[in-house]
Amino acid sequence: MKYILVTGGVISGVGKGIISSSLGVLLKNNGYKVTSIKIDPYLNIDAGTFSPYEHGEVFVLDDGGEVDLDLGNYERFLNIRLTRDNNITTGKMFQHVMERERRGDYCGKTVQMIPHFTDAIIDWVERVARIPVDGTKDTPDVCIIELGGTIGDIEGMPFLAAFEKFQTPRFKDNIMNVHVGLILHPDATGEPKTKPMQNSVRQLRAAGLKPDLLICRSSQPLEVRLRKKVADFGLVDLEQVIGVHDVSNIYKVPLLLQEQGVLHHAIQCLRLPEVSQQTLRG
Ligand code: ADP
Repeated sequence: MKYILVTGGVISGVGKGIISSSLGVLLKNNGYKVTSIKIDPYLNIDAGTFSPYEHGEVFVLDDGGEVDLDLGNYERFLNIRLTRDNNITTGKMFQHVMERERRGDYCGKTVQMIPHFTDAIIDWVERVARIPVDGTKDTPDVCIIELGGTIGDIEGMPFLAAFEKFQTPRFKDNIMNVHVGLILHPDATGEPKTKPMQNSVRQLRAAGLKPDLLICRSSQPLEVRLRKKVADFGLVDLEQVIGVHDVSNIYKVPLLLQEQGVLHHAIQCLRLPEVSQQTLRG
């Protein structure tokens, strides 16, 4: 199983969901089977009790799971059907770990965030990633995991600690880290600013995650000069810095990624079988 972990920086609502779905579209169009997991680092068990005034509408899955709207994007972009287990919340994970603790599954051990909570996250992800989602019985090739919230939030820490394990040799060539940040365009300065993006990459690295792609959201198309600056400060190559500016229609985002070689990068990073070798299924 191959994983793409999408994290976000600078602000919430930076576009992680649309970018994750768009990455899935590129992979799917090239014959890979794609599934997704959305992580919402809040203590609610699910989105069912949310006020629609605060969070927008709740998305209801075929199995009755009440989840974040992003899962609706995944289903529409990728033409897949997800389950309630494809949405992890901190509350859901706590409930899961606490139930195991009460059952005695930890055999008297002191139950801790690391390794018990973090291992529970990894086990959940590895189990759910294998669930067929496209109406066939085929196990997906790639699972896109979107970590909600912003890097540096206290709520996201246990999940980052868990995904540090994905950086170990066991997952070599099986994990790609994509970080989405914002390039600010303050009216007062009249020029775009990359500093918040640089800082968010630093926080990502401090959490033990090395970015494979840096995706810069911006209101206007990103100049090469700015991409180069982000690459220099983010310690990545220029080709690893992708610009995604505001577009009139979110279904244009996969095209923006395609034009900038994101598919090729994912194939190389994850050592996916080349398209020509991949049996186009379905
Ligand atoms: P996040 O997952 O980071 O919270 P979303 O993907 O849900 O962010 O995007 C937040 C909002 O911004 C949504 O309304 C989405 O449609 C919009 N959006 C995302 N990317 C773009 C883009 N490139 N151009 C225009 N609107 C976008």
